[in-house]
Amino acid sequence: MLPTASVENVDERAIQYQAVKIQLLPSTFDSSGCATPDQRLTCYLIDDCVAIDAGSIALALNDHQRNSVRDVIVTHPHMDHMATLPIFIDDLFALLTEPLRVYATDEVIQILERDVFNWTVYPRFAELSNEYGPVMQYVPIRAGEEFQVRHLKFVAIPVNHIVPTIGLIINDDKTTLAFTSDTATTEEFWQVVNRIKHVDALFIEASFPNSMESLAEVSGHLTPAGVGRELAKLSNNHLDVLAVHLKPTYRDLIVKEISELDKPKVQVMQPGREYEW
Ligand SMILES: [Zn+2]
Ligand SMILES: [Zn+2]
Repeated sequence: MLPTASVENVDERAIQYQAVKIQLLPSTFDSSGCATPDQRLTCYLIDDCVAIDAGSIALALNDHQRNSVRDVIVTHPHMDHMATLPIFIDDLFALLTEPLRVYATDEVIQILERDVFNWTVYPRFAELSNEYGPVMQYVPIRAGEEFQVRHLKFVAIPVNHIVPTIGLIINDDKTTLAFTSDTATTEEFWQVVNRIKHVDALFIEASFPNSMESLAEVSGHLTPAGVGRELAKLSNNHLDVLAVHLKPTYRDLIVKEISELDKPKVQVMQPGREYEW
């Protein structure tokens, strides 16, 4: 992992290292405006311009990011992953000079259209335009087929959650990152990861403490012990592993249980911090 970039010279450093920069956007802030360690919503920002999921996208982008993010990949339609996507498009409605592109599988697009952008919960933005043209455009993606977003290549892999959900492999020719999204124990994702020559970092969910294994299982999530079992399926044990999606109520316990795993490369991802590989 490369040193964390300072805010002032992000572009310069990105060019210098040609690193991929990733940030878990904060969901909540304390009374002095600092990001809290709790993750209530899911939205990862890559190189300040591509979002994976959109839970906190309307809450936590700075002005530069708000002006540059026009591509959002939605891994699944659970509220914590798309909660403020409608608000983000609403905020930008008059300003968008190109549509906000939403990448998702056909199944997820249908759910978003049926249950969210349905003229009842929120307007069907994909049918609306401002003076520059359409404000929202779906880009259907298919599992196993590579697709390009800006300078990044992605492959979606189905994972084992309670609704149609994809994990993602991301690369920019130098750096490769793997995201499980929300998942219980899964197989195909690890088979794909194991076929890749070099993976720099893995982002794996750890939603519930070990004592809540049965709830984790029925809700399609992992515990720290489950993370340990999933990591045992990896043939490469040298990659950085970041645990994410810790339920705030149990965060301290989950952090402790993760630290007790016999996996020294596993750490808990901090909302708001920039990571680079
Ligand atoms: Zn979910
Ligand atoms: Zn989730």
